[in-house]
Amino acid sequence: MAGPPGIRARSQGFADIFDRSTGGALTPLSVVIERVLSPVRAVIEGRETLMFGTNSYLGLNFDPTCIEAASMALASFGTGSTASRVASGNQALHVELEKAIAELYGRRDAVVFSTGFMANLGAIGGLVREGDAVVLDAHCHASIFDACRLSGAKILTFKHNDAADLARIIAQSEIAPSRLLVIVEGLYSVLGDVAALEAISAVTSETGAVLLVDEAHSLGLYGARGRGVAETQGVEDKVDVIVGTFSKSVGVVGGYCVTNDPAFRALRFAARSYLYTASLPPPVVAAARQALSIIAGDNERRATVFSHAEALHRGLTGLGLPPLAPPGPVGAVRMPGIKAGLDTWTALLRAGLYVNMLIPPATPNGEVVLRYSVSAAHSAADIERALDIIAAAGRQTGVLRPAA
Ligand code: PMP
Repeated sequence: MAGPPGIRARSQGFADIFDRSTGGALTPLSVVIERVLSPVRAVIEGRETLMFGTNSYLGLNFDPTCIEAASMALASFGTGSTASRVASGNQALHVELEKAIAELYGRRDAVVFSTGFMANLGAIGGLVREGDAVVLDAHCHASIFDACRLSGAKILTFKHNDAADLARIIAQSEIAPSRLLVIVEGLYSVLGDVAALEAISAVTSETGAVLLVDEAHSLGLYGARGRGVAETQGVEDKVDVIVGTFSKSVGVVGGYCVTNDPAFRALRFAARSYLYTASLPPPVVAAARQALSIIAGDNERRATVFSHAEALHRGLTGLGLPPLAPPGPVGAVRMPGIKAGLDTWTALLRAGLYVNMLIPPATPNGEVVLRYSVSAAHSAADIERALDIIAAAGRQTGVLRPAA
């Protein structure tokens, strides 16, 4: 293979697993969505496929009012902003969206970024620098790890969801707690488990460490107003900064951070991921704003997601494939190895069911998993159909015992 040695080294693992082992057959990295029929249906390899591996948890990427808002913005503001927020890319739509987010969370300030990844880069980079430390949950997303590395702060990790381990690390650190930033996620996106925020926020508020929660996957799904796991667990007043994304339940793209800390205004002059990139396109901003107003008021969609999640969890457990976390919008089923995982993933896809196959380093604890996500746009019949396909594929590949 030609190319820089760094790229060669980094891509080797994926190439070995996903390309060579399958002799060039369809792999999780080569799937092409040929057409999108709805939030949960698409055409892949010419076949109508039931999608259980998107992050369109609420189906809002096809909501008629979001499409209408995007179309109107498209007609009046054009296809793109063509500049950064600090140049000519600061449109009324962006300012209104930030106001809507701050209002949703009842906080002073919200800053919108062009992706959730950039929101983490900007927010974390704004909070810590060399001489400070970040203490991360070991299962945090790559964007959080990268943001911490870029910040120059010392990086410490605590055992996943283990508040006692967090307390131990803070107690042992020679850096003052006020210069420690603790980072966790609301809903962990690979295994689908939820942060123990009550216990974690108790530790940060007792010690005086700063707490940032990334609610990327939990926005719109948890809490009476859909603000995320901190809302459900009643600890929002102990969370200093919330980061999130528009690329999942909101159905577009973009990221935000929201806080009461007046110092955060400085982000607009300091965050390189805010300053040096184009602002979000107008149709995206308008659709995001409409989606957020739906999220704030609509508990029915949330309830539908959880009732589907419970049915799927029950069905999988009954089949002998118990998901690794309690029922929720995201679930993951352990595979006995990469070959079994890939064979099962392929059999599911050929039968018209798309899920995500994940391997290390994208998964914690060296797990090989099939990950699924549930949407309010699924029907009860879709859940039944998915379970039927999984039962047949699992028996075909030997992941499940043949029916008696
Ligand atoms: N944070 C978390 C926890 C995520 O899971 C993701 C995306 N998977 C991101 C941030 C990045 O979001 P975006 O796709 O908007 O860049």
